[in-house]
Amino acid sequence: LENHQEKIDYVFKVVVIGDSAVGKTQLLSRFARNEFCFDSKSTIGVEFQTRTVTIKSKVIKAQIWDTAGQERYRAVTSAYYRGALGAMLVYDTTKRQSFDHVARWVEELRGHADNSIVIMLIGNKADLVDLRAVPTEDAVEFAENQGLFFFETSALNGDNVEPAFFKLLEEIYNVVS
Ligand code: GDP
Repeated sequence: LENHQEKIDYVFKVVVIGDSAVGKTQLLSRFARNEFCFDSKSTIGVEFQTRTVTIKSKVIKAQIWDTAGQERYRAVTSAYYRGALGAMLVYDTTKRQSFDHVARWVEELRGHADNSIVIMLIGNKADLVDLRAVPTEDAVEFAENQGLFFFETSALNGDNVEPAFFKLLEEIYNVVS
């Protein structure tokens, strides 16, 4: 029922950002292809993946962009953000530093992206419960202060990945419709 390519009502560009190794590429392939690839980074060079979904009876093609490793060199360019209606800002729940950098990524978005961009904060790798380094409440508080949506996910087992992307797309739809 998600294959209505003949009649697309909207195309939404979404960018995935956050520190290196937090799971951006895996979240994207989990959502776009329902895959988790243990041999990561084989996808380098692929700029975006798409998935078409139906939200509120509208057929929406989500075009989701991956930094393809540019963030390692702090070289994410304004071209990457151009036209983006939504952002998945990902940190790793087992790496405090990746959460401490989230504020910087928000600044980057506010500087380069459209003002109305919808931002979804994602605490990924929630499956690694014994290694958790970022309490959920810290992220909830930050998200509330900054006006971000928030989910904890696991690209590995798929937990919350669909709800997070669907919520982001639905909020974008509310902005553009
Ligand atoms: P990126 O640099 O942000 O795109 O991160 P990747 O998607 O390449 O993932 C970095 C590493 O984290 C890889 O070894 C992945 O297998 C692993 N990884 C990604 N998501 C998860 C997750 O949800 N749970 C666990 N346990 N590992 C993950």
